[in-house]
Amino acid sequence: MSALLKNLEGNLAVQALPKIARLTGVERVKKDETYHDDRPRFLLYCPHCGARGKKIYWFVTEEGQTGGAMSGCIKLFPVGEYFNAYQKAVDNMIRFEQNGWNPSRFDLDTTNGIDLYFDGKLSKERLDSGLRDIYNERQAYLEKMGYKRRR
Ligand SMILES: [Zn+2]
Repeated sequence: MSALLKNLEGNLAVQALPKIARLTGVERVKKDETYHDDRPRFLLYCPHCGARGKKIYWFVTEEGQTGGAMSGCIKLFPVGEYFNAYQKAVDNMIRFEQNGWNPSRFDLDTTNGIDLYFDGKLSKERLDSGLRDIYNERQAYLEKMGYKRRR
């Protein structure tokens, strides 16, 4: 197959992926399970490509279908408006848990707010203003703690 055809095929495959509306959860192998002698090193299989991974994101597409993909693969999917904010908050919570810290209220408020919106219990206007508040409060907090502003 020519490189051009291969390229076209690759692009078509990407375009054919359904758009993710909402993240619904993350399934992962915990650190201590990952390196256990009598277990396979990675216990999870990516529903998208079948490769083994440590972390699977579960989601619902705009057509209402459930799916899953590991970190590398989920980047290939087109995503809806609040996907990135939700994923970032979830990843923060996992990182905090791995460090033995309590989850940050900014991340909890972000995921709770987005969940309420998708469940029809919060308007888009309220969610957007809430996310702006969370962003501003987080920036103020980070500045107070001596971190540089994040862009
Ligand atoms: Zn995959």
